[in-house]
Amino acid sequence: MSEFAKLNLIPSLQSVIVQAGYQSPTPIQSQAIPHLLEGHDLLGIAQTGTGKTAAFVLPILNRLCSDPRRLRPGEASVLILTPTRELAAQIGTCIEIFGKPLLLKHAVVFGGVGQYLQTRIMSKGVHILVATPGRLLDLINQGHIRLSNLRIFVLDEADRMLDMGFIHDVRRVIALLPVNRQTMLFSATMPMEVEHLTKEILNEPVRIEVTPQSTTVEKVVQKVLFVTRENKRALLKKLLEADEIRRALVFTRTKHGADRVTEHLERNAIPATAIHGDKSQNARERSLDLFRRGEVRILVATDLAARGIDVADVSHVINFDMPNEPESYVHRIGRTARAGRGGHAISFCDATESPSLRDIEKIIRQKIPVDREHEFHCELTANTLLDRVPVPQKQNVSRPSANPPGKPRRHGAGTRPPEAQARVQRQRNNKRPSVGVR
Ligand code: AMP
Repeated sequence: MSEFAKLNLIPSLQSVIVQAGYQSPTPIQSQAIPHLLEGHDLLGIAQTGTGKTAAFVLPILNRLCSDPRRLRPGEASVLILTPTRELAAQIGTCIEIFGKPLLLKHAVVFGGVGQYLQTRIMSKGVHILVATPGRLLDLINQGHIRLSNLRIFVLDEADRMLDMGFIHDVRRVIALLPVNRQTMLFSATMPMEVEHLTKEILNEPVRIEVTPQSTTVEKVVQKVLFVTRENKRALLKKLLEADEIRRALVFTRTKHGADRVTEHLERNAIPATAIHGDKSQNARERSLDLFRRGEVRILVATDLAARGIDVADVSHVINFDMPNEPESYVHRIGRTARAGRGGHAISFCDATESPSLRDIEKIIRQKIPVDREHEFHCELTANTLLDRVPVPQKQNVSRPSANPPGKPRRHGAGTRPPEAQARVQRQRNNKRPSVGVR
């Protein structure tokens, strides 16, 4: 008997789950599904990668099958609101896998593509509507969608909605929902504004937290490499030439940065593809597809574009730039080690990024081990961090560096070989109090 059989889902859904190859529920699924089947509201504190999509999709399908209603033009029984097109498409795929054999209809609406196909599906009505906030409001304003008969509302990735500035649109949508409904809110972190929102929209919710807030996915092996900004591309190339990096997601801070890194890799005969907000929906899907099918093993992405990317077997996440917000680090490295597998996260940190590293270490409550053995290691950055005092920008620029920009580090005159560095480091550490010493 499948572990799912204990969850009281209807038999037809049980068979679809078996067909999909799911053997046992993930923790959020086993904890959330029984409450959701009883009709409770839910606050789920969980990141992508925990199985949260099926945790809400399965009980929704169960309810739609056991209490069917006639479809009405322009209406949906369930609304799942999610911040990005990629997430919307992924939720759509999950519904397709489990819902199609049950003859349930769904639509996925998001911006950046023509609305014709979306309005055509909505004209007949659907059981489940998955939407991003902007396009949803557009279609509501044009009279293509009505939410007055909604039975279930899911707000997915609430913290990301906030980060992306969608919270006002979300509130506008919520104002259009009937009061009598079941509501589920999912968020990886709980900033104040999300906390307020939960109080406004959830009615005596069950609270389920699967990974403690802002902790790092445990199975990811993390390390940080100190390097000057100028040497980052050469370091990346070097790393990617190694065989053990089977499939890597490389994060840059800007769209422009993603393009530059991709071009650099391609110029060096390392096939790579980029995904970011300036690319058309088709181009993004094409890149993702190449990456998913393994035709290109490197995907370069910005935080927003990569949000929710669900590609199995990403062996490495490489932070080419440290993220601005420490929470993004947790999201980024969660792209590897999916569904119980292990993975690696490698972060490049230059002198200007050391404050970000400190913030990340604070929220994950652990020190990320430093790899000093690579040829572009930049001791200046390492010292900046070791001393835990910000090095003034001027000093940083004018101080002669043992590792001038653009040149790999050599263990010759004026620099110490790694063993000697480690020895000096140990001596330095012994002189300092242990707190704050890496
Ligand atoms: P999510 O957190 O919803 O983005 O899911 C992450 C990945 O885990 C997706 O690829 C799912 O298909 C997969 N997944 C979710 N639940 C299970 C399960 N019970 N057994 C196996 N794989 C699962």
